[in-house]
Amino acid sequence: MDDDEDRVLANRELLDRHVGSHVAWMSQRHTARVRTVRGEPSPGRTTQGECDALVGRRSGARTPAVAVMVADCVPLLLATPDGALVAAVHVGRQGLASGVVLATLEVLAAEGAVVPELYASLGPSICGRCYEVPAALREEVAAVVPAASGTTAWGTPALDIPAGVLAQLAAGGVRRVQHVDACTREDERFYSFRRDGVTGRFVGVVRPA
Ligand SMILES: [Zn+2]
Repeated sequence: MDDDEDRVLANRELLDRHVGSHVAWMSQRHTARVRTVRGEPSPGRTTQGECDALVGRRSGARTPAVAVMVADCVPLLLATPDGALVAAVHVGRQGLASGVVLATLEVLAAEGAVVPELYASLGPSICGRCYEVPAALREEVAAVVPAASGTTAWGTPALDIPAGVLAQLAAGGVRRVQHVDACTREDERFYSFRRDGVTGRFVGVVRPA
């Protein structure tokens, strides 16, 4: 079931008011595609197209707020110490394996970020003890990101996406990492597609102070 478009827009307006500017969104596709947005998006043009990482770059006095929507995938937020560059990244199984984390770090570096000085924050996601997958799928992802190989609490093959993201951040040279270690499937404060089935998402948003 899809969300009602008017309600989605109304909720996004509420978030804009809370954040204090128009928030930039992505049409998320489980890819490694990164887009860059400069300055605050104009009203009605807040969706930046198909991508799974959105880099916001300061233009004039304003750095755009960028958002990622998740339901079990990892919402990863990044920022430079001065807030001139921010990023919101959508990391699920496919994005992790196709390298969306490292692709985002490359774009941030190309825009002038010093990667070891970046701040990174991982929001709640499904954890490695809950994300059951077929054995062949676990091997396929672990071949690219070994740290993502896991086992469920009930002993079957699993993927640990947050562990994979943490490993890729470390490999990329990011040292200042915060992880909200809450599982969306186990913790009912968060929406979980695997638990709840029906549509629903929650949002990670980053903006400079
Ligand atoms: Zn869990």
